[in-house]
Amino acid sequence: MKTLTVSVVTPSGPVLEEDYEMIVCKTETGELGILPGHIPLVAPLTIGAVRLKKNNDTYQLAVSGGFMEVRPDKVTILAQSAEKASEIDVARANEAKARAERRLQAKQDDTDFQRAELALKRALNRINVTRK
Ligand code: ATP
Repeated sequence: MKTLTVSVVTPSGPVLEEDYEMIVCKTETGELGILPGHIPLVAPLTIGAVRLKKNNDTYQLAVSGGFMEVRPDKVTILAQSAEKASEIDVARANEAKARAERRLQAKQDDTDFQRAELALKRALNRINVTRK
């Protein structure tokens, strides 16, 4: 089976660099599945899961927005944050979820509301990624 190299980098450093048969990302215009030999493109990512497939196994990462650059033999993801499923602290994500929900219920200005909405999305994404 052909593979392509997937590299995931965040401001805190590299998260992953490995070969996979397929990668599926959540872009701002929908889910995008990339196989080796894909035409080059750049796409903005939303908060969501990145699925990596190899030898009939699927691995997941939680990614909090950023960009993906696709070349025929390599996908590079520059993410605001990215965690492998096994590295996610579920208790921390549950606390972040509860905090965000409290802030969404409190009466406050639009900026704080939007920040809380994004924090809730990040927390739910992390929780979902650990469940699959
Ligand atoms: P929190 O309020 O718990 O910090 P957050 O969504 O505000 O959550 P981010 O700003 O997205 O956190 O991330 C800050 C750093 O902490 C990043 O390096 C990210 O990978 C890491 N991180 C955040 N939440 C978790 C988690 N639940 N498990 C593991 N790492 C996490």
